[in-house]
Amino acid sequence: MTLPIGFDDVVAAHERIADLVHQTPVLTSRTADERSGATMLFKAENLQRTGAFKFRGACNALRQFDDAQRQRGVIAYSSGNHAQAIALAARLLQIPATIVMPQDAPASKLAATRGYGAEVVIYDRYSQSREEIGAQLAEERGMTLIPPFDHPHIMAGQGTTALELLREVGGLDVLVVCLGGGGLLSGCATVARHLQPACRVIGVEPEAGNDVQRSLQQGRIVHIDVPRTIADGAQTKAPSERTFAVMRRRVDEVVTVSDEALVRTMRFFAGRMKMVVEPTGCLAAAAVLEGTVAARGKRVGVVISGGNVDLDRFASLLGGSEPTP
Ligand SMILES: *Cc1c(COP(=O)(O)O)cnc(C)c1O
Repeated sequence: MTLPIGFDDVVAAHERIADLVHQTPVLTSRTADERSGATMLFKAENLQRTGAFKFRGACNALRQFDDAQRQRGVIAYSSGNHAQAIALAARLLQIPATIVMPQDAPASKLAATRGYGAEVVIYDRYSQSREEIGAQLAEERGMTLIPPFDHPHIMAGQGTTALELLREVGGLDVLVVCLGGGGLLSGCATVARHLQPACRVIGVEPEAGNDVQRSLQQGRIVHIDVPRTIADGAQTKAPSERTFAVMRRRVDEVVTVSDEALVRTMRFFAGRMKMVVEPTGCLAAAAVLEGTVAARGKRVGVVISGGNVDLDRFASLLGGSEPTP
């Protein structure tokens, strides 16, 4: 079976979006290295435009619209980083954008999405299905629906994160990437498999939502209930056929970390590296810093996926009296 994306798709994506995205820095921390016994190389997508890697996939998808699609516009449903990524990419490329968001989405997210010039359509998450609303609007208005992970252009765009990292730092023994629906991980694994076949590729899910870990173990897609976790970017119920097919072939292992470990890692990033990282963005780093991934003596690439968290929520998550780690 041919997989939905290959290495060449990621290279093409990188060329296609280079003028729109930030080449984010690769950061190091002596404290992190002391704690893990590894050499940790952090790819800081919390410093990407819109605050998360999702901007890469959004740019790659919208740049491939034909004239008719550009005129009619793009539609996305999301309460999180995908919404803002599509909204900004659409504005930069002068494509109309409609974002379907739940009525209880944080005011700051609604404002940010509108601030990028997108039309926001509100729905009631308890009585309406966003998939149906999205499909209906797409049909009525002739707009193109771009999902947050289940699309080859999105997967290839997210993979440019690992392409930049591997090109900058060279050989890695392990690459650790957080995992929701698997767009980021499938893109990154595609790059690592091709450039460094011996590099272990590890996905990290929240403990409460290990749908992909179970799917890989059982060899078929496993559906779970919406997981209860502070990692709101990874509250997916299942991977898609596309992302699962790629992860199955190119990912070595999926591990999980607890919400407590995510909070400790947020404190670590704030206290030691002076960075605001959202809970989901801490998944990969937590797996290494907490010893879930065997890393001693190895060169380990770690993707920090995003930094969007309301400051009040950030403060309350960190609010305990624990000393800075
Ligand atoms: C969307 C998102 C993820 C999960 O990405 P997938 O491609 O769905 O696996 C992880 N971290 C952040 C910050 C995100 O916005």
